[in-house]
This record gives sequence, structure tokens and C-alpha cells, in this order.
Amino acid sequence: MLAAAIQVLNIQWIKILYFPFIIILSVFYGRKTIIPLAILMPFLEANKFIDSQTILENTAFFLTLFITASISVFLLKSPERKDVKESKKNEQNQRIDDFLNENKALDSDKLVSDYFESTFNPDDEMKEILEISKKTIFADSVNLFTGYGEELKLRCSTDGTKGIITIDEGLITQCYKERKNIIATDMEGKKIEAGYVRKEHISSLIAVPVADGNFILGVVAADSSRIRAFSSADLDTLKVFSNQIMKILQRERVYPQINRSFNTLKILNEESSKLLSSLKIEVIVQNLIDSASKITSGSIAFFLSKGRNFELINSKEMQMPGKNIFSLRGTLIEMSLKNRTPMVISDAKKYRLPVLPFNSGDTGSVLALPLIYEKDIIGLLVIVSEKTGAFNSYQAEILSVLGNQASVSMANARFHSEIEKIAITDGLTGLFNHRHFQERLLQEFKRLERFTDPMSLLLIDIDYFKKVNDTYGHPVGDLVLKGVSGIIGKTIRNIDIAARYGGEEFAVILPGTDINGAKNMAERLRKAISDLKFKADGNIFHVTISIGIAAWSKEISSTVDFLDRADKALYKAKSSGRNRCVVWNEIKS
Ligand code: GH3
Ligand code: MG
Ligand code: MG
Repeated sequence: MLAAAIQVLNIQWIKILYFPFIIILSVFYGRKTIIPLAILMPFLEANKFIDSQTILENTAFFLTLFITASISVFLLKSPERKDVKESKKNEQNQRIDDFLNENKALDSDKLVSDYFESTFNPDDEMKEILEISKKTIFADSVNLFTGYGEELKLRCSTDGTKGIITIDEGLITQCYKERKNIIATDMEGKKIEAGYVRKEHISSLIAVPVADGNFILGVVAADSSRIRAFSSADLDTLKVFSNQIMKILQRERVYPQINRSFNTLKILNEESSKLLSSLKIEVIVQNLIDSASKITSGSIAFFLSKGRNFELINSKEMQMPGKNIFSLRGTLIEMSLKNRTPMVISDAKKYRLPVLPFNSGDTGSVLALPLIYEKDIIGLLVIVSEKTGAFNSYQAEILSVLGNQASVSMANARFHSEIEKIAITDGLTGLFNHRHFQERLLQEFKRLERFTDPMSLLLIDIDYFKKVNDTYGHPVGDLVLKGVSGIIGKTIRNIDIAARYGGEEFAVILPGTDINGAKNMAERLRKAISDLKFKADGNIFHVTISIGIAAWSKEISSTVDFLDRADKALYKAKSSGRNRCVVWNEIKS
């Protein structure tokens, strides 16, 4: 553009602008661009450049420009640019590293299974052995036939598999069936069949069995169109090669087993660790269902045992019934519970029994897995498929290992939840204990810092309880405590939290309840308990309670403060005659 402006306007001094222009460009481009550009510049004005009057001047000008360009390229090749390049490169390397790290697990898994496939090409290896043996014993062709029951089939040949046709009977079949070495060196004109035909007539043949101990795998046969082509030494040589081939066939047989064991271990390792990771029955069951859906395909249901019945607690792609507690008596899946073993049924239609205790649609095959821990049936995993033969014993085997793992985890979860319950419950009354009450009160208190719901607190104390103990004895006192706590438990709502606060004192948190609601609840409790009849020593007696009520308000700064208000109200109830409910706000005035 600059050159064009100079040409059109014919203003020579604009040429000066080439200097800042080339300096600016050298910030962005490297010497590979700038130096050729500086060299090319004179050619933009080729017509003027050649002018004999100004040629010296122009040459000096462009030489200076070229030098400026060179200097600025080297000076302005700033460290930042270098850094950007470097950091880009580092970033790229990092990404590659990350990718490799992410895929490391996958790589190592793939490596093991790919290992066999890549390093083990039985056909190539056997072909190579046949080729070497052919050269060693000067045979026309060497062939490997493998046995399928009574029959021999061509597996590999130095002629390629299309060059050889196996026929029913002949020397190779004799070698295979009788497991003996064959050497026939003059077959011409005689009615001896080799057992296979190839393009050229076979006049000599040696054949040796390929055997793994007592197990015969096939036959290696070498032939020649020449008569007396082989000696017994050649037969011995062929035996050595046959032994090599046997080893390859042996490896080929164990390979699927190794691969399968590897895959099994991989699945078990991945899935069983998930089953161990939780102490919640629902999570364990969900993980088991997820694992089962990776191993099999079909609709899945999990039944948790509930006494003699079973509760359907989770399912996947299953038509859900209306209820969830079932007896499994008379169903097909009950068979697996009776036998206490995993059960695979390939064709469920053969049985007259219903598969599940509810209609789950058309069922072709079933896999049922009882979860057993120390002789107790914990649950039952059922997978059904519309297709027949959808499950195999291999899947059942893997699932049963995972099922065992899940059983242990579920037993642990049950044990854990029992311990947890014991830790928060008062042994005598079954209400929450003091420690748990304090925790819950604090929790509710913190909740109110965020939400402005009402909340109330009741402190309940049995009147003259000492007298009950003194009159009827401590065990009767205990029965009274149970009776009173039973009424408290029955009267409160699900969201209320009732606890044994101390000896014969109880506390109830009433979330979402204002002072009027709390008063009503307290009054109902007081009435219900005074109506309660106790029997001892042939006497019927009653007890009464006093209740202190406090409602939450913003001035209450702590749970201690809150409890203190309820306690003061309770004290007032006691001092003003007992068998009554007193609200903290009302004693102030
Ligand atoms: P007040 O009306 O002033 O509350 O009189 P009270 O007799 O109920 O009060 P006090 O606190 O003097 O007596 C409480 C009694 O409760 C004393 C104690 O022996 C009894 N107690 C505490 N825990 C238990 C328990 O677990 N079982 C039995 N049977 N008695 C208990
Ligand atoms: Mg007391
Ligand atoms: Mg008392």
C-alpha cells in the first residue's frame, strides 16, 4: 500500500515510513518473513529504482532499510514472544501428559488384553514352523490338520489353505485316529491315499500326530512328488516341529481362558470396590444394580427381605407394581431362595409359575441372585429379559461374587445403623437421649439463623415422682416413665423431637410451632398423662406433669438461653401448684 501511495502521489519522502513499518512488522514476524520482505521492497518501485540518477541514493536507502530490518528483528525478538511460544509448547506437552495419565488405567488394561493378540499370532507362528520344516526335510508341502471330533480339517499349509483339499479317509486320518507316525515313501501306482490332495501328485508322505499328552490335537503331514523322498530321520525332524506346533495350539486353547479371567478380575475389582464404599443400604443396592446392568442387559429389581416378605426397594427398566411389599411364594424366583444359589433360567416360558410377584411383562429368561449373610437371606436381585437365553453362567458367576460383596456391605450397613440408633436413644423410654437432644436443638437453632420459622420448646417434669418410687418401688417408677414417654411419643408430630432430658424430665422441640401451637400441644399432653392409669399393688394411681414452654424469638442468643427460659417457666409451673403449663413470656409480666 505504501509503495502504491508513493507511485500514485509521487511523494518520495513517504518512503521514510518504510522504517517504522518494517520495525512494527518485526515485532510480529520472525526473521524468515522480515528479511525477505526488506529484500523485496526495492522491487515494489522497480521502475524508479533502475533510474540512473537515483540508483545510488535508492541503493543506500534500501540498504539502510535492510540493516534496520535485520537489527530490529534480532532486537525485537522479545523474550515474551519466546515465552509465549515456550508456554504454548509446555501447555501442549502438559495436555499430552494429562491425556496419557488419564488413559493410563485404560492403557494398562488394554495392554494386557492386547498383549496376547499382538504377540500371539498362532497362524503366523505355525506357518513359519511349517515353512522351516519344509526346507529342512526338502518336502513339497507341509500341512497342519487339526481335529474336530472324528474329522480332520486343514488349519495351515505351506501351500496356503486353498491349495489343499482334505478327503475323508487316508494316511493322515489313520495317523490321527491311531496316533501313530506314518511314513509312506512309494505311493505311486498304489492305492494309498494321503488323506488330502494338492496340485501335484503325492508320492511320499510322512505324518506325525500333534498331541498334548493323551489329548490329540491334529496331524502334521509333509509330502513330496518324488518317491522315497523321506527317511526316518525326516520323520524324527517332523516330530520336533510337531511338538512346537503343539505348544502353539496349547497356548491358543488357554488364551481365551486367560483373557476371560483377566476381564473377570477387572470387572470384579472395579465393581466390588464401589459396593464397599457405602454404609447406606440404598446406595449399596443402587451400586449393585449399576454393576449388574454393566454385566447383563435386562430389567432389574431388588427385593429386601422383610421378615417372611420382601420389599421391592429399587428397580431399573421394570414395570412398577402399585405396592412394594410382596410374598415371593409360588413365584419362579422363589426357587433361587429355596436353593440359596444364583439361578439362571434360559426359557422362563417352560415353567408355569409366574416369574415375579407382579406382572412384569413378557419374560424370556431370568437371572436371580439371593444375597445371603451368615445364613440369613438379606435380599434378592432379579434380572429379567424378554429374550430367551439372555444370561449365562459366566454372568451369574461374576454377579454372585458381587452379590457376596454386597451382602457383607449390607450387613455392615445394618449393623452400623443399629449402633447409630443405640447411640442416640434412651434405653428405658426409647426416646432420644440427652446428648442427641442437645445436638438437634443446636441444629434447629442454626437453621433459624437462616430461616425465620417459629419454633417452641417444652420442658416436662413428672410431679412428685419421688413419691411414686417411694410408694410402689423403683420398677413401678420405671413403668411410669415408660408410660409417660409413650404418651409423649404418640402425641407429638413426626417432625417434633422428643427426648428424655434427665431422670423424670422430658424435652420436646416443636419446629415450625408458635407459642399458641406449643400451648395447645402442652395442654393436650398434660391432659393425656393425667388421664393415664397405672396399676401397682392392686391400686390404680395417676401421675401429673408440669410443663415449661418457651417460644423462639430473636433475642434468644443460644440454646442455653432458650432452655433456660423453658426451665424458668417449668419452675413457675411447679411453684404455682404443679399439673399445669406455664409460658415464659407470661411469667415476666
Ligand atoms: P417435683 O414435683 O418437684 O418434680 O418432685 P419430684 O419428686 O418429681 O422431684 P425430685 O427431683 O425430687 O425427684 C425425682 C426423682 O426421680 C428422684 C429419682 O430417684 C427419680 N428417678 C430419676 N431417674 C429415675 C429412673 O430412671 N427410674 C426411676 N424409677 N426413678 C428415677
Ligand atoms: Mg425433676
Ligand atoms: Mg419431678
